[in-house]
Amino acid sequence: MTRPTVLVLGDQLTRQVGPLANARPDEVRVLMVESRALLHGAAHHAQKLVLVLAAMRRFADALRRDGFEVAYHQHDDPASDDFASAVHDHLRRHGAGEVTLMTPNDHGVAEPIAAAAERAGGRLRQVANELWITDDALFDRWVEGRRTLRMEGFYREVRRATGILMEDGEPLGGRWNYDADNRARPDTEASPPPPPAFEPDARVREVIKEVEAGFPHRWGEARPFRWPVDREQALRALDVFCRERLRRFGDQQDAMRVGEPFLWHSTLSVPLNLGLLHPREVVDAALAHAEDGRRRIPTNAIEGFVRQVIGWREFVHHVYRTRGAAMHGANALQAHAPLPPAYWGEPTQLHCLGTTVGQLRRTGYAHHIQRLMVLGNVAQLVGVDPEQVLAWFTATHLDALDWVMVPNVLGMSQYADGGTMTSKPYAAGANYLHKMSDACAGCRFDPKAKHGEDACPLTGWYWAFIDRHQERFASNARMRMIVAAWRKRDAAERKRLLERAERDRAAFLAGEL
Ligand code: FAD
Repeated sequence: MTRPTVLVLGDQLTRQVGPLANARPDEVRVLMVESRALLHGAAHHAQKLVLVLAAMRRFADALRRDGFEVAYHQHDDPASDDFASAVHDHLRRHGAGEVTLMTPNDHGVAEPIAAAAERAGGRLRQVANELWITDDALFDRWVEGRRTLRMEGFYREVRRATGILMEDGEPLGGRWNYDADNRARPDTEASPPPPPAFEPDARVREVIKEVEAGFPHRWGEARPFRWPVDREQALRALDVFCRERLRRFGDQQDAMRVGEPFLWHSTLSVPLNLGLLHPREVVDAALAHAEDGRRRIPTNAIEGFVRQVIGWREFVHHVYRTRGAAMHGANALQAHAPLPPAYWGEPTQLHCLGTTVGQLRRTGYAHHIQRLMVLGNVAQLVGVDPEQVLAWFTATHLDALDWVMVPNVLGMSQYADGGTMTSKPYAAGANYLHKMSDACAGCRFDPKAKHGEDACPLTGWYWAFIDRHQERFASNARMRMIVAAWRKRDAAERKRLLERAERDRAAFLAGEL
């Protein structure tokens, strides 16, 4: 009798949950595929390629050590064109049977595999994806009858359902959300201890060489490579974060500093999105650390971190699952400009953007506020086509996956969906950047100047953005006052500002600013 096969995708590298959790080596075969279509079909950051290939191969090595038979297709194997062709080939070779797969997070992955399994005389059995804290039913019940989706409401529902940070049915400490305490300016005195850098071993060094030689479309630098590629390293990254950076996660959450790529952030999206860590164990580790009386973790830090994982991460997953298909291709603000060359690392006078892109090139990582208020914000202000912004995020970030980028990039950052999950666009001018980042200090522009050659282009772009969309924003409760303030301005001043903004925009799009 043929043994059933478990297909393990590159973002499901887990034996804590799912089909491999209780499987014995003599019961199942494992199939893993480095899909050529995915790896070579679009540009990726060099470190993302190293990360995914090294983590998948490590996972297969560990399974083999434990006695599992693993059929592993490398991206240069003719049978690894995509998952479907590999499954077809595998079932034919081993006799038709069943392939078990944890439901993929990304749309469009399971259907071709199911069809290929059937063509080979077998079938695909999809089981629940257990790499989540919340199940579909919790979200689907909560969402019923709601016209707008806001993370905060779902977050509270998750807290009630799980009992996390709850006491007698009430939020611990009396407040649901301490976000107001998490907007401090950058603390330029403190030196955040960086996340552990995992020295590449021979296996990882081999992959680095392979990526440098075989992926001409890669972007960014493959070395130095520092990321966790197996469970042991991922657990260590989690532990170090809890011990060293969680305490300032709260107040410095929205801050940005040039030369400090990680600040007090966890950088755990990388192992989380591979499946090396389960979100529940991440939250439990942080809570245990905060509850230990000897460590002084402020409430705003632990609540802020927990909210990211059980709130934002879960919410975004469900928004993608239920609304993601409709978000693709949406362009509510009719933004059609091409992505400016500065995004690929061409010189720019915008110090905030130039330094963030430089950081990305070197590390493959940017923290949330850099993604939202620099990378996303500038693209939105100058009206870049949202699908181009999405493709760029795919190519430049290590933790990029469709399920998480579609809501974050198209929804939260570009407002392309017209506000499915946010009550207003995340748009800001130079004032915000000046307040929350130290980048303006090294910039040739002056964030405080309103007019003149030294005025920061972001100021003009912000008002031009408001001007372009004033009809839409005038009926938005959170944007109405800004529109009114713009309309009250002297007509000649508005004209002058808009002309300058358009001049700057044209130069920026042409790579001349
Ligand atoms: P921390 O600040 O330490 O937060 C802890 C964890 O919370 C993260 O590891 C992550 O798992 C989760 N989290 C926090 N915010 C979000 C969110 N909005 N959506 C989903 N999870 C969240 N996240 C990705 O994992 N992959 C992406 O490709 C991605 N693209 C983004 C693009 C844009 C334009 C924006 C605005 C956000 C994007 N995010 C993405 C969400 C968020 O910025 C990253 O998860 C976070 O910056 C990762 O760094 P960290 O692990 O240090 O996070």
